[in-house]
Amino acid sequence: TGTFFVGGNWKCNGTKESITKLVSDLNDAKLEADVDVVVAPPFPYIDQVKASLTDRIEISAQNSWVGKGGAFTGEISVEQLKDIGCKWVILGHSERRHIIGENNEFIGKKAAYALSQGLGVVACIGELLEEREAGKTFDVCFEQLKAFADAVPSWENIVIAYEPVWAIGTGKVATPLQAQEVHVAVRDWLKKNVSEEVASKTRIIYGGSVNGGNCADLAKQEDIDGFLVGGASLKGLNLQPLSILQ
Ligand code: 13P
Repeated sequence: TGTFFVGGNWKCNGTKESITKLVSDLNDAKLEADVDVVVAPPFPYIDQVKASLTDRIEISAQNSWVGKGGAFTGEISVEQLKDIGCKWVILGHSERRHIIGENNEFIGKKAAYALSQGLGVVACIGELLEEREAGKTFDVCFEQLKAFADAVPSWENIVIAYEPVWAIGTGKVATPLQAQEVHVAVRDWLKKNVSEEVASKTRIIYGGSVNGGNCADLAKQEDIDGFLVGGASLKGLNLQPLSILQ
């Protein structure tokens, strides 16, 4: 579905020095023409990255405030993100849900506000290991999806990222079939609960221990429309294995 999407989520990592090197590697990388590439640096470095990174690669934030900026100490507004050149924001990441404690309703509101101001949203969903083991994977993912669906007026500017929590940062990547099974279920949910058009047009990307070695097999699955890469993206987005898809 759509143009393949590869996002690098740098999370809370990096220094001026390491990010200078990463940007220089990305600027030198030969990126496939028909792949959307987006990187999400930590807030303090977005300006530096925007100023030095090729325009071929778009910039995402890793979070945004739920409404218009103002007296919200420590928060970063969507307006500010747009002002410094961000095109995207990652919302509902499992680390924000499970470590910071953001809930479905709050995340849905953030998505609606970001979209209303013209930012694209990478809407993350995914189950914990115990939820998978209890057979609740679909229930959890559908509930998280529903919170987005209830809040947003349009899906035009949304990419869904399925990131099983047990696969994030663990080296335990979902098998291509495990990921495909959830991606199909998500598409089916969109078809039943939003519309056939949204189901067929919305990109559903996979995240969780993706690297240069396993991405090609995952990308062969029909419903995997891209990746959200954490750890491996700090070493540069190695898209080489994806060239076998062309
Ligand atoms: P890892 O690739 O490090 O598992 O992280 C995935 C992720 O959380 C991307 O948002």
